[in-house]
Amino acid sequence: MRLLDKFELHQTIIDCVANYGFNPIGAEVQVSHSPTEGTVAGRPVVLAGTNNYLGLTFDPACIAAAVDAVEREGTGTTGSRMANGTYEGHKKLEVELAEFYGLGHAIVFTTGYQANLGMISTLAGPSEFIILDADSHASIYDGARLSGAQMFRFHHNDVADLDKRLTRLGERATETLVVVEGLYSMLGDLAPLREICDVTKRHGACLMVDEAHSMGLVGEKGRGQVEAQGVLDEVDFIVGTFSKSLGCVGGYCVSRHEMLDILRNSIRAYVFTASATPSVIASARMALDIVRHRGPELRDRLWSNARRVYDAVKSLGFDVGPEPSPVVAVIMDVDSTVAAWNALLEAGVYVNLVFPPAAPGRFGLLRCSLSAAHTDEQVDRIIEGYTLVHNIVGPARRVRA
Ligand code: PMP
Repeated sequence: MRLLDKFELHQTIIDCVANYGFNPIGAEVQVSHSPTEGTVAGRPVVLAGTNNYLGLTFDPACIAAAVDAVEREGTGTTGSRMANGTYEGHKKLEVELAEFYGLGHAIVFTTGYQANLGMISTLAGPSEFIILDADSHASIYDGARLSGAQMFRFHHNDVADLDKRLTRLGERATETLVVVEGLYSMLGDLAPLREICDVTKRHGACLMVDEAHSMGLVGEKGRGQVEAQGVLDEVDFIVGTFSKSLGCVGGYCVSRHEMLDILRNSIRAYVFTASATPSVIASARMALDIVRHRGPELRDRLWSNARRVYDAVKSLGFDVGPEPSPVVAVIMDVDSTVAAWNALLEAGVYVNLVFPPAAPGRFGLLRCSLSAAHTDEQVDRIIEGYTLVHNIVGPARRVRA
């Protein structure tokens, strides 16, 4: 087989999916008018698949901070954090993140993907071990592969399986990094962090939690599942992103270990890539300030929207994720998922269409993410969209693809 032949199969899949109507692969949000309204495939839609959980992409204070920064400091840093790419804003954001979590140390990365890639591949090396939840994000898997460490997966959220794998490592469990997520992005389910933390500590391993989908969304101060489940002071590393609740782009790691500052210059995804632009850093700082000061009001609104959609979709008989959360996922066979995605778009509702391997198992996922910025009327429209879909494809058809 020639090098490029394998991509012909991808084209076949793209063509097949496009036969259903709109082509969902790489569907373009042609215009984004607000955090919750846009134009997709020429249609005005309610955006319900954006991870814009707090709706801050159009927040006037975030926009003003970004505009001010671009005017004062220019469009880019043109250098890596280690060279000319560390500005005052990057440093201040690190201090503010460390303060927000009440932990001593923070590093800001250019994306959340790079935060995971850089941290995981640096923390563990070829003679060591990484144990991952099987449903981990691609950036966690990629970091583990890049590290050269021996990698094991435990069954999703199965603490007994994690315990078994650590037990098998015996004394070498102390040379192990365990990585989990606080809230899993595809089904919206939570990790049992208390138990995971206890088991990891009992074996003397290190624990990293990716809070990409829960920072700003839960916890008394919005510090995510680590706060809500009372393990913030116990986990070793917390990784997150600015591309969801903070409404821009970038990533971070915070830790109680002083070691984080020493590690910094060994992280290749930090040293060998350009730093985030001044405007991005300025809007991330403002968004973090909003989480600190207006967080409770935004979280109440987000969770009330999330519960309404989850309850309505569940009562229609769809096979939803295990608990209400700002990610409402419906599991279906792949064909029904494509038909349902098209029907929702026709009804003016944009959600994410997810196929294996990004969707767990061999099913398709219709993934809706709610925002604090969704109005009651927009939530009504989302629910009406699912009612229509129910009439077209029927309730959950959890048939193997
Ligand atoms: N971790 C998780 C769990 C994610 O869902 C994502 C993004 N989808 C990332 C990390 C990467 O974040 P970013 O978009 O900032 O690269």
